[in-house]
Amino acid sequence: MLDLTYTEPKPKIYAGAKGDWELVIGLEVHAQVASKSKLFSGASTQFGNEPNSNVSMVDAAMPGMLPVINEFCIEQAVRTGLGLKAQINLYSAFDRKNYFYPDLPQGYQISQLYHPIVGEGEILVDLEPGIARNVRVERIHLEQDAGKSVHDMDPNMSFVDLNRTGVALMEIVSMPDIRSPEEAAAYVTKLRQILRYLGTCDGNMQNGNMRADVNVSVCPAGQYEKFRATGDFSHLGTRCELKNMNSMRFIQMAIDFEAKRQIAILEDGGTITQETRLYDNEKNETRSMRSKEEAHDYRYFPDPDLLPLEIEQSWVDEIAAGLPELPDAKKARFITEFGVTEYDASVLTADLSDANYFEAVAQNRDGKQAANWVINELFGRLNKADLTINDSPISAEQLGGILDLIAKGDISGKIAKDLFEIVWTEGGNPAEIVESRGMKQVTDTGAIEAALDQIMTDNPDQVAKAQANPKLAGWFVGQVMKATGGKANPKAVNEIIAKKLIS
Ligand code: ADP
Ligand code: MG
Repeated sequence: MLDLTYTEPKPKIYAGAKGDWELVIGLEVHAQVASKSKLFSGASTQFGNEPNSNVSMVDAAMPGMLPVINEFCIEQAVRTGLGLKAQINLYSAFDRKNYFYPDLPQGYQISQLYHPIVGEGEILVDLEPGIARNVRVERIHLEQDAGKSVHDMDPNMSFVDLNRTGVALMEIVSMPDIRSPEEAAAYVTKLRQILRYLGTCDGNMQNGNMRADVNVSVCPAGQYEKFRATGDFSHLGTRCELKNMNSMRFIQMAIDFEAKRQIAILEDGGTITQETRLYDNEKNETRSMRSKEEAHDYRYFPDPDLLPLEIEQSWVDEIAAGLPELPDAKKARFITEFGVTEYDASVLTADLSDANYFEAVAQNRDGKQAANWVINELFGRLNKADLTINDSPISAEQLGGILDLIAKGDISGKIAKDLFEIVWTEGGNPAEIVESRGMKQVTDTGAIEAALDQIMTDNPDQVAKAQANPKLAGWFVGQVMKATGGKANPKAVNEIIAKKLIS
């Protein structure tokens, strides 16, 4: 496999009044496990159902109900860990994180504090061709999601919807390796891409199926590198946590605001309070939500209803053997197999459906030309129509058919664009359309010569001008094209003009 090499991006520098500052960022991403049923009950995870219709006795925490682990959710967590090249822990265990909230009927969340199912891994966060950072993943643990309190339906009452209660989440915790707002967004983008390739989370951020808690601190420029070398980050600046971010754009804006806020406080001689803050995208500011609680505040203890989770290495190996080709590998393969640029390969592999489409078009054809058509014509047209590749009116087979006609010399690139438009709106077989509508390029030199002869006879002045100044021969190219309805092969036209007119 092609080994792409990268240099690390520079940290973003914030110039303060008294000196330069750098950012330190670590993310905790909650990704909903793609599974039909919940982590410890058989209730459905279907989004958008009638409130409180996806609730089993276990989710409602009825007395005497016992959780039963969903094997598929475990498999999904293991698959995710393998996809992030992480350590899979054959022994893990569930703990109760105790707190009261109306959308949490149990009065505790079942999570994995002491023994997570996945240990250290890494994510290659590629920012642009040649530039990427390997961000370390500290751990992934499984836990239950909570329900939702609804405060805006009635002036006097709040409601609760328990449909989400007990749905399986993977909490994916990064090390504080991220150094700019752009990198943080690129990290979430890459993680989402990998999860979607793996099929372990649908990555739908609008529905809240993937959301990030963003930890931000600042330190004087250059200080981070010293601590990075020691591996001990505990003496870096105090961090604030920006809760529940679910848009790449807002993640960047919130971090930027937070960095400037912290720098202003520190330069003013103040100290940063470790707290949880909320980003208000209308005002573009972060506001304090609550002071940051410590793990001991939750009185974690091993859940007595659940045995420790012990899995077999052979099962892990089986899951590993079934992993799909992941984005980095696919990108490298597209570069070597189809000769596309690193940039184009990144665009084409951003989404698995896009990548599959491109591959079907490029197979046994000119890869660069296929990339051009898929990225510039097809993606451009899909964007304009607000469609995804899955709803593309032109199939890979149809686009491939258009490229074949270009390759055979049947149509020019320009006619191909008209053909693309016809297939987009009317459908049909490209070769048949070209045949039935007489769109074939005229390569018959006799026909082109005859057209040129006629034009020369009709325009003796132009002939004289062009013979005095060969640069003016372009006029004849336009006329021949017009006379042949744009179907003359441009290469043949140029050759014939050069022969007849200039020599
Ligand atoms: P806690 O135990 O309070 O949850 P962790 O050490 O587990 O804290 O870290 C939680 C998240 O905060 C991780 O994603 C980590 O990378 C990030 N983090 C830790 N220290 C810092 C720091 N100084 N600045 C920014 N982020 C940090
Ligand atoms: Mg933690």
